[in-house]
Amino acid sequence: TVRTRIAPSPTGDPHVGTAYVALFNLCFARQHGGQFILRIEDTDQARSTAESEQDILNALSWLGLAWDEGPDVGGEYGPYRQSERKADYAAYAEELVRKGHAFYCFRTPEELDAIREHRKAAGLNPGIKGDLALPDDEVKRRLDAGEPYVIRMKVPDEGVCEIDDMLRGTVEIDWAQVDCQVLLKSDGMPTYHLANVVDDHRMGITHVIRGEEWINSAPKHQLLYQYFEWDMPTLCHLPLLRNPDKSKLSKRKNPTSINFYERMGFLPEAVLNYLGRMGWSMPDDREKFTLDDMIKHFDIQRISLGGPVFDVEKLRWLNGQWMREDLDDEAFVRRIQDWWFNREALQALVPHVRGRADVFSDVAPLAGFMFSGMLDVAPEDFQHKKLEEGQVKRILQFALWTLEAQRHWSKDTIFADVKGLSKAMGLKMGEFMFPIFVAIAGTPNSWSVMDSMALLGPDMTRARLRHALH
Ligand code: ATP
Ligand code: GLU
Repeated sequence: TVRTRIAPSPTGDPHVGTAYVALFNLCFARQHGGQFILRIEDTDQARSTAESEQDILNALSWLGLAWDEGPDVGGEYGPYRQSERKADYAAYAEELVRKGHAFYCFRTPEELDAIREHRKAAGLNPGIKGDLALPDDEVKRRLDAGEPYVIRMKVPDEGVCEIDDMLRGTVEIDWAQVDCQVLLKSDGMPTYHLANVVDDHRMGITHVIRGEEWINSAPKHQLLYQYFEWDMPTLCHLPLLRNPDKSKLSKRKNPTSINFYERMGFLPEAVLNYLGRMGWSMPDDREKFTLDDMIKHFDIQRISLGGPVFDVEKLRWLNGQWMREDLDDEAFVRRIQDWWFNREALQALVPHVRGRADVFSDVAPLAGFMFSGMLDVAPEDFQHKKLEEGQVKRILQFALWTLEAQRHWSKDTIFADVKGLSKAMGLKMGEFMFPIFVAIAGTPNSWSVMDSMALLGPDMTRARLRHALH
């Protein structure tokens, strides 16, 4: 039976690209009466967090994507979190060493850089190749001495690797471009490549449907399947989502977090519908369809390889269709309550509004910005007697760049970021924060803007800063 999977790394906000890839995996599995699995790839322990994992699960569930097996629902092939399968990977890497397909490598990153430089200077392929393998007795001596090592797979020095892809036919990649990939890191953790192949095999995955960005990894994966003498799943690389300017969709230009679309008040069924139109179309070309419709008419060969543009304005248009045609008054009330007019959301606001409101009717003007998308702010709203126009722009721009890089979103981290920036710019905190207040809350007279940013989330915060800069 067909088994597909989505294998997110829990290293950040739930990405619309993850939902897009999950959707196509789900449709393909359902169409064939198979199973769709969710596996968490958290071998990068420095970057993976439990919150990010939970956010990803919540976001995919919010969209209505349901998996048959996963860390939350369990299943026969568990555990479904790679950190819990850790003990096994080293044995697989060592098996390849024994079979002569992999080797211990003791080189430091500096030594490897020097080797690359040296080879480049000599007009040779600067890649890391199998000639770095050491004689057995030296390996043994170094292992006995307790020197740190990684295990690398061997790859051919030259020749062409042929990869079969469901959408592209045969893709050729030169082996000369492929390094002897690290399989096991010096901390004993596997790299993505080893863990991914081992788990796809052991979880009985038949079709690997994933983003195009992984196609250059396919030669290594194919070789690993050969080394282990395992059947290889069928590969299918989906075209990457793009910004309207055709560059790869990125949070620097577009909100990429599913949380943002939820916060904006998009309907999950409309978002899913829109993702289904990314490179794919219904046989009758209708624009509006449900997940069930998509499954019923699914044909992976209908995916077109031209980069699909994820355009928030088009999504908004489609969402409007759904809002008007598919929600009756009753559903509208229920859905808007689910959205942000609920007890929990109001509770989060109470500490901020209660000290400022004399009557309940003060609450809407105070808190309206928490329920809004982009704010209607004019250039004169940013005028401040101590700040020149150029300074205002710089503050907003620097805040945007700094917050784009912030991977841990909380009041404290945001505070540390803006504090550091105001100091670096030689501004008082009050002056520095003025334009940020206006961009985020529409007025300088709101409650702590750090609290607002923490509650609004990174993508909404960034989107408002970007909006203020335009
Ligand atoms: P950004 O450029 O916005 O920082 P990113 O490339 O860093 O995004 P990752 O955290 O690397 O995003 O990716 C998270 C998940 O989203 C991965 O599974 C990746 O395959 C997927 N993804 C990222 N960008 C795209 C895209 N343009 N199209 C489809 N999937 C994508
Ligand atoms: N963990 C990888 C990711 O984050 C999975 C890639 C794959 O599907 O092989 O996208």
